[in-house]
Amino acid sequence: MKKLIIIGGGPAALILAAELDTKKYKVTLFDKKKTVGRKFLVAGEGGLNLTYNASLEALTNQYFPREFMAPVLRQFTNQDLMSWLNKHEIPTFIGSSNRVFPELGIKPIEVLNKITTYISDRDIAFQLGAKWEGWNEEGHLCFHEMEGVLADIVVFAMGGASWQVTGSDGDWRETFEANGVKVEPFRAANCAFEVDWDKTFISTHEGKPLKNIALSFDGHSSKGELNISKFGLEGNAIYALSQKIQEKLLDEESVLVHLDLKPTMTIDQLKAKYKRSHRSKVTDVLNKDLNLDRTAISLLKQCCDKDAFSNPDMLVKTIKSVPIVIKSAGELDEAISTLGGVALDEIDENFQLKKIPNSYAIGEMLDWYAPTGGYLLQGCFSMGFVLAKFLNALEDKE
Ligand SMILES: Cc1cc2nc3c(=O)[nH]c(=O)nc-3n(C[C@H](O)[C@H](O)[C@H](O)COP(=O)(O)OP(=O)(O)OC[C@H]3O[C@@H](n4cnc5c(N)ncnc54)[C@H](O)[C@@H]3O)c2cc1C
Repeated sequence: MKKLIIIGGGPAALILAAELDTKKYKVTLFDKKKTVGRKFLVAGEGGLNLTYNASLEALTNQYFPREFMAPVLRQFTNQDLMSWLNKHEIPTFIGSSNRVFPELGIKPIEVLNKITTYISDRDIAFQLGAKWEGWNEEGHLCFHEMEGVLADIVVFAMGGASWQVTGSDGDWRETFEANGVKVEPFRAANCAFEVDWDKTFISTHEGKPLKNIALSFDGHSSKGELNISKFGLEGNAIYALSQKIQEKLLDEESVLVHLDLKPTMTIDQLKAKYKRSHRSKVTDVLNKDLNLDRTAISLLKQCCDKDAFSNPDMLVKTIKSVPIVIKSAGELDEAISTLGGVALDEIDENFQLKKIPNSYAIGEMLDWYAPTGGYLLQGCFSMGFVLAKFLNALEDKE
């Protein structure tokens, strides 16, 4: 049997371990933390959004670069993931927003335990508290305060570089670079963005949501929700644009995004509704006829002078396109995911590292992006499953 070592114990690694053929491989999974799946559990704190229920076309469109992720997702789709989880006694349900979660009452730790128990029952060993630090002169893998370990095949699945407390701290970057592997710099994705809010506005509206809005930037747009914070803006609508905004912030000091407070209505519909109103106060029209809450109305006041606020045509235009200046991205460590990681031209179509023999890399440690909504976990699970299928077949060919 060939000796196969997996380094990292996140979702990409776990599904790989669950799917590898243990008649062909003697598998050991190493993780620097004392327990595996810690970021997976953090992900579960706000509701464990496992995948997104959409057509394959719509699903793959959410990933960047699409041409890298689409073939992987086609081989292990969102429907495949739901069936896989169901097979492991983790039934899922599709929420009203098409996000997929474990059935009500199933806690994230139970999901994790079901998967890790299945892996252990397959005679796969977990070597925990084992931090990978590189290779020694003989090419053996070095783990902190351990003898060198020899393996026929190594799969790296060490995650991105946010939420360091979970173990995903990108500390592998320098070692990879020292071995000639190009690693794109880590940057926050699916993260908060800084806005220079007026002090009075923030003292009244900090923590308030803006629901059912749309955000647009540079020809891209996303619908959803935003939250006003002291730092700026959070929420799925801006997370979805985070990669594009970050790209622009590489060259520009600030970025202008536009907020549509009424994405389901056209300017003409809003104007007509406004003009049908019998109320005299503008704020009453906005609140009672156009259903805008206090936060949305205050935001409008921020960017309209008195004349514009009392001119229905100008005001309606602003409702459809509130300008917001983004100054910077939030802290990397607080981001839901990271941009950057192992450059995609460093691996072949089977995730094999071109410069390090018999080694593969999967999961968030590679340089791809997806918004929140279950796409990140789906991407990681798909990569792990597809690599297992490849490695299981590889032995047959040789
Ligand atoms: C707050 C938050 C909420 C999220 N919510 C969602 C959600 O609802 N839906 C969704 O799809 N995604 C969500 N995500 C993202 C998702 O959790 C990650 O994309 C996913 O966990 C990445 O999986 P991975 O297998 O690539 O690596 P990780 O889960 O990051 O695991 C990497 C593992 O490698 C280990 N490791 C790192 N370096 C070493 C080393 N040198 N030696 C040994 N071991 C090492 C780490 O200890 C860790 O266990 C969320 C993330 C966060 C932070």
